Amino acid sequence: MFIHKKELLHPVHVTSPDPKFAEFLLDAFGGATGELKASLQYFTQAQHTDDPQLRDMLMDIATEEMGHLEIVAHLIEAHSSGAVEEKAFESTLFSIRGKGPHLLDSQGTTWTGAYVDEGASPVRDLRADIAAEAGALASYEAMIPKSPDEGTRKALIHLATREVTHSRMFMEALKSMDKLDDPMFGDLQPDDTVNLVFNLSQTENPKKDGAAPWLLANSKLEYIADPEERRRTAKAQ
Ligand code: MN
Ligand code: MN
Repeated sequence: MFIHKKELLHPVHVTSPDPKFAEFLLDAFGGATGELKASLQYFTQAQHTDDPQLRDMLMDIATEEMGHLEIVAHLIEAHSSGAVEEKAFESTLFSIRGKGPHLLDSQGTTWTGAYVDEGASPVRDLRADIAAEAGALASYEAMIPKSPDEGTRKALIHLATREVTHSRMFMEALKSMDKLDDPMFGDLQPDDTVNLVFNLSQTENPKKDGAAPWLLANSKLEYIADPEERRRTAKAQ
């Protein structure tokens, strides 16, 4: 069950309301990298796992993300209403839809369940969750320097910080399964190309060609500089 407490997870003090900034904030509310997507993704995934600790972690984070959604909602409301209602009409979106949050992103695109990435395996889910947190963090990092006042900036820094923590939690969960740096899971028996890296963007300039050193440094990967040659040899055999 859920109980709503009438207090925010982090204080929100807006002193320079700015409806154009409220449009940016919509990405964190009804966007592909937003808090609603995050909350519903982790909530849905939690129902799929039989591991009580993984389930608990996913439910904890899903619940915290709902608290984040509430903070973002308050920020959007504060930046699109009150003393600036007239100014809000400078924003096409708020002049048509009214003040406060809407299930839209900053471009006016409607939120969709297709943003939610879940299913098939906890390993796959946790990888999707790391990507979700990266998306959320990137969005907040883009918004923070544009914050019109200190209160908004502080609230966004808190939200961004928690996404870093969530990423760490998902990484630790993968680590506990020995899957943090192993892309294999399930029953797949790979074919003989599993360790091969093909040079498929070629140039005559040797300085601009070749495998990235970090790619091969600590892995079993083998760089095939001339994939055509390899194909010819393989055919001949
Ligand atoms: Mn969040
Ligand atoms: Mn998060």
